[in-house]
Amino acid sequence: MKRVLCLLLCAAVFCGSLFVVGCAPSDVLSKYTIDAKYDPDAGMLSADMHFDYYNDTENEISVLAFNLYPNAFREGAAYEPVSSVYHAAAYYAGESYGEMRVENVSGCESWEVGGEDENILYVRLEQSVFPEESAALDIAFTVTFAHVRHRTGITEHVVNMGNFYPTLCVYDDAAGFYECIYYSDGDPFYSQCADYNVSLTLPAGYVAAASAAGKTAQKDGKVTYRYTLSSARDFALAVSDAFEVVSKQVQGVDVSYYYYDDGEAQGTLDAACAAMTYFSDTFGAYAYPSFALVQTGFCYGGMEYPGLVLLSDALERENYLYTVVHETAHQWWYAMVGSNQQEYAWMDEGLAEYSTLLFYENHPAYGRTREELVHAALTSYKAYYSIYSQIFGESDTSMNRNLGTFISEYEYVNLTYNKGVLLFDTLREGIGESKFFAGLKNYFSAFRFLLATPEDMIACFRKTGVDVDGLFDSFLTGSAVL
Ligand SMILES: [Zn+2]
Repeated sequence: MKRVLCLLLCAAVFCGSLFVVGCAPSDVLSKYTIDAKYDPDAGMLSADMHFDYYNDTENEISVLAFNLYPNAFREGAAYEPVSSVYHAAAYYAGESYGEMRVENVSGCESWEVGGEDENILYVRLEQSVFPEESAALDIAFTVTFAHVRHRTGITEHVVNMGNFYPTLCVYDDAAGFYECIYYSDGDPFYSQCADYNVSLTLPAGYVAAASAAGKTAQKDGKVTYRYTLSSARDFALAVSDAFEVVSKQVQGVDVSYYYYDDGEAQGTLDAACAAMTYFSDTFGAYAYPSFALVQTGFCYGGMEYPGLVLLSDALERENYLYTVVHETAHQWWYAMVGSNQQEYAWMDEGLAEYSTLLFYENHPAYGRTREELVHAALTSYKAYYSIYSQIFGESDTSMNRNLGTFISEYEYVNLTYNKGVLLFDTLREGIGESKFFAGLKNYFSAFRFLLATPEDMIACFRKTGVDVDGLFDSFLTGSAVL
């Protein structure tokens, strides 16, 4: 995600070591086959989802757990999906509610919706699934969309269909399934790569942007899009009857920009393509066949999904292009290399933000420099630290923090985005250009399609022959004085 709050609110010693990184991705992934229909008059999506579960854990699994993210938008939700700062910008038509309703689950012994905030679907399987075995389920569900400029919502021109299906929780061999809470600060998502087979039927005249390039068929006044996508940790859609589209091929990837109000649409597409090229050359190749950028109503700056990003139509030009680059960087840090965004938001946000800095540094025509962007991050961070120290007596500047522990959006932005930039810039200064970029390449190649922990990332820089533990530790624990 790209936040804009900070802009609104404020004007080591190294030695060699060895390491081992995670295993290769399993050849077999779980698979979502989703057959969905969207009715614009009702503001409702109804779907049948066939889920092929593959047990890649080391444990016997008898109960599966799925995140039901759209339930965060229901009336009476314990966790507001939007912080008070953004409430008016998000709910443009007044209070509005949505929900995800699980209609039926078949192929199981029993099921129930529960969790801390009716956010989890539990499915007890007919038989336990042992490691490397499979099971199949069918889940019928509906999503009613709130009128909200958010990830899952009806906006003035576009229906944002992020997180629109029950998403398998990530299983930890020690702790079990990790249940995400829809905190308003940050992107409360954590998911494993899977394969997708998705179809969406809409009234003719609507255009769908998606995480994959679709094939379309028209029949009886309806248009059906069909998509396949392999090794992706999520699948998102955005539909509108107002989209215009510009497209371009870059390094074999179909890049498309869906918009309704952009007099410089080609320039927006060009920026995305330049970022795709730069990040592919710098970190490693983009893995998916397509990339869709979607202009939409969104209360924050932008939002990333594999193969698709949302861009707020409220941003002025310079911030809009910045957000294009930031969200494109998330294709590397979040989409391909995954991490637990609820526990370690700095991992993907800090790297996406620093990758954006690298893009600007290497594309002077876009008019921003490394020095300027580091200075902006440091200035914002220091302002936060000063304000919070005065208010609270001291500031908790540690970075490995669950999203629920941040006091405010302001604190979250400064400790994940701005301190993230400062962490990676300090690392780069400390270990030098070649080791820094070698470390990033190591990280990308070792964890592409996988989930990385902070220790995994640190180990990838250590592999370049330097001891970076002290530096990471000082930033992550909050002992570094900036
Ligand atoms: Zn982001």
